[in-house]
Amino acid sequence: MDFEFLAIDYRHPVFSVAMLLLVVAAVAILNHLLAASKKRRQERKLTRFLSRFDSAAQSKDYKALLISQPDSFNSLMLLADIYFKSAQYPESIHIYLALLEIVADKPRRVEAMTRLGRSYHRAGFFQRSRDILLESIKLSARNKEALELLLVIYEQTKEYRRALEVLDALEEIGEDYGRERSFIKIKIIENDPLLPPEKREAALLDLQKQDPRLFRAAFEFALEHDPKGAWLIIDEDRLIDALDLFWRAPKAYFNEEEALKYPLLRELYTAKGWINAAKESAIFELDALIKLGESKNIADLSFEYRCPRCMTSFPMPFLRCPNCLRAEIARVEPVLVKSAKNDGGNYDASANFY
Ligand SMILES: [Zn+2]
Repeated sequence: MDFEFLAIDYRHPVFSVAMLLLVVAAVAILNHLLAASKKRRQERKLTRFLSRFDSAAQSKDYKALLISQPDSFNSLMLLADIYFKSAQYPESIHIYLALLEIVADKPRRVEAMTRLGRSYHRAGFFQRSRDILLESIKLSARNKEALELLLVIYEQTKEYRRALEVLDALEEIGEDYGRERSFIKIKIIENDPLLPPEKREAALLDLQKQDPRLFRAAFEFALEHDPKGAWLIIDEDRLIDALDLFWRAPKAYFNEEEALKYPLLRELYTAKGWINAAKESAIFELDALIKLGESKNIADLSFEYRCPRCMTSFPMPFLRCPNCLRAEIARVEPVLVKSAKNDGGNYDASANFY
């Protein structure tokens, strides 16, 4: 029997084309299987990751809504934002967690992760916030909002070296973060337990020379560790930033000869009653005290610190506004108060802020 008809002619062009198509199809199927497996792995990883954060039970209504109406992403993001703005952080967190379980689109996931990080941060969960923000940066390295919040968190947790790394990443995006960098350098110097005070002071002065906005920090440190030297580093243009420090410094630190060189200090110490070298002041509170003359001991000054960006004021000075989280030098605003010394005790109300 002739079986020649069953023999395959390997040199036939049709066979070569068929083989090529077969290989292409095999590669396509393999690619598809690998992609599906990678997606499943990522989903499992994310589910494990998210399960560390919160009970998914409270997110189930939002998940059901997303499954039945996949186009409800924007509405839910808006709702979460409303909850966030009214300080209902747990509710906004539930929505973002639901979104992250269902939504697969990468830009949307990055947006939801960043907002989730923001809600966790406001709710006081710094570690959760940091972890989800780092996860969002893995998906999109040029995520400015996530990097800026990460910078705030590293400052708050005193991980200043990491904060500087975040600044490097932010500056690669192309914006100037010189003010933030200077503020972090101050914190590194102030918090270095191995640096002797004189070296700390020298390092702060060096920083102040590079960035005059840092006068208050350098002066405050010098006032505490080298009160005589502090008077020699005064930057007249920045005196207003340290008005409270001059007012509260003990009389033993007072250097009349140096104070008389600066009109603002002449007004301040005349208002305080330590010298008589000014008749008036453009600052209402100082002017009022100067004009009270001999009766000035019925009043005293307290201070508030206002963010020049969002205009919120706080009882403590800051280098980053606790409200809008921007790196800013607080505006020092004097407030006239009734003197505690005149209330029958020797208690100095203005000293109560530290
Ligand atoms: Zn602010």
